[in-house]
Formats: sequence, C-alpha cells, structure tokens
Amino acid sequence: MLLYEGKAKQVYSTENENEFIVYFKDDATAFNGEKKATISSKGILNNKISTIMFEMLHDNQINTHFVKSLSDREMLVKKVEILPLEVIIRNITAGSFCKRYGIEEGLVLDEPIFELSYKNDEYGDPMLNEDHAVAMKLATRGEIAFLKDQTLKINELMKEFFLKMNLKLVDFKLEFGKDVDGNIILADEISPDTCRLWDVHTNEKLDKDRFRRDLGDLVQGYEEVLARMNCK
Ligand code: 5GP
Repeated sequence: MLLYEGKAKQVYSTENENEFIVYFKDDATAFNGEKKATISSKGILNNKISTIMFEMLHDNQINTHFVKSLSDREMLVKKVEILPLEVIIRNITAGSFCKRYGIEEGLVLDEPIFELSYKNDEYGDPMLNEDHAVAMKLATRGEIAFLKDQTLKINELMKEFFLKMNLKLVDFKLEFGKDVDGNIILADEISPDTCRLWDVHTNEKLDKDRFRRDLGDLVQGYEEVLARMNCK
C-alpha cells in the first residue's frame, strides 16, 4: 500500500510491519517545486547510487535504514519516522550559501559547516538553528548533538570515498528517522540529487545542479558518478 509520495520517491508498506519499500521515481524538481521534469532513468541511477552509499556507510559502522536492494527502482528499508529536519554539510561554498551571503562559489571551507533546515515545503524548507529546532520541538539538544556527530563522521567517510573516484564532495543533505526502537538512524537517500559532486580536475558538476541551472544532461552526469563508483 502506498503510504507516502514525495517529489522523487514513494514509500510503500510491506507484509513486515517494521519494513517499508522505497520506490525511486524519475521526477525531478528544483526551487521548491517551481521547476519540474521527468527524467527517464534518474530513479534507477539514484537507487543504485544510494544502495552503494548505504552499503559503504554500513561497512563503516553507520546505522542506516537500508536493508537491501529489491529491484532497479526499489529498496527495502527499516520503518522509521522521519525527523522534520534536513541536515546539511558544506565543505566547499555553493548553492544557497553563496546566494544568501554573497560569497563566491568554490571556496574550500576551513571546517565543514553544519546546517539545519525545517523540512516543510509550505515554508520552503527554511534554515534554522538549534534553539529554533528545540523551541519548535523538532528534536532535543541531545538528538541534535547526535545528528551533528553522525553527520560529521558521514562527511569524512563520504569525502574520502568520493575523492578515490576523483570527485569533490561539495555539500550534501541528509535526513534521519527514528526506528521502532526509538534509535535515530540515517534514512532517505544519498545520491547526486542530494549531494553536490564536482570533478576534481575540471570542476565539472555531476549532480542535480545540471538540472537546476541547465548545466548539461542530468542522466549523463549521474551515469558518470555511478560508473566511477563501479570501477573504484
Ligand atoms: P543548498 O542549501 O545549497 O540549496 O543545498 C545544499 C545541499 O543540500 C545540496 O547538495 C543540495 O542538493 C542538498 N539539498 C538541500 N535541500 C534539499 C532538498 O530539499 N532536496 C534535495 N534533493 N537536496 C537538497
């Protein structure tokens, strides 16, 4: 049974009440749904890339919702209740950071920046700080400290992983959820829809900015990322 439909994925119940199926769609949206398209095979690429990322993180003792891949577009995941927070890490300046503060794109930051956004389409996922999140009862201080610790660890693992395939991890967004035992685990997806990835030598953008900013064929970019992952 379809439980939830988002912009890029659907979530279905299964016979096991503790597991869901995530189905990756071909739909692409940007600027909070203002720009939309259907891009054939994007869902397949994101499912494959997310699977590799969740497996890599699992091998490095990070708890995630991933159970197994089921098909080209489907993965079996643990049931979680998604926290209404988007957790963002920035290693290199880009995107909304440059726009908001008038800073040039491509500057390497001395330390990763940890950011939170309120996951709420109606208000355009506004950025918030820890006090806001606690006041709005979106998470406790302890939970936010845990999110930051996990996300910084994940950042180090992902940076190293992508660097091996000559990709710079510019920034990314993660979502976490609470499993049936109340543990906070990594959920959602990790793909070029949710990470900015640039070629180390040319700075060619191989992520969703191709769609957001009309920088080239999106599928070609995602295929390049997957191909580099597969021959690592
Ligand atoms: P920015 O805040 O610069 O737009 O995004 C920072 C990073 O988080 C980028 O890698 C971007 O892809 C990801 N990100 C932030 N918000 C969203 C979102 O609502 N959807 C997706 N797919 N990625 C997001």
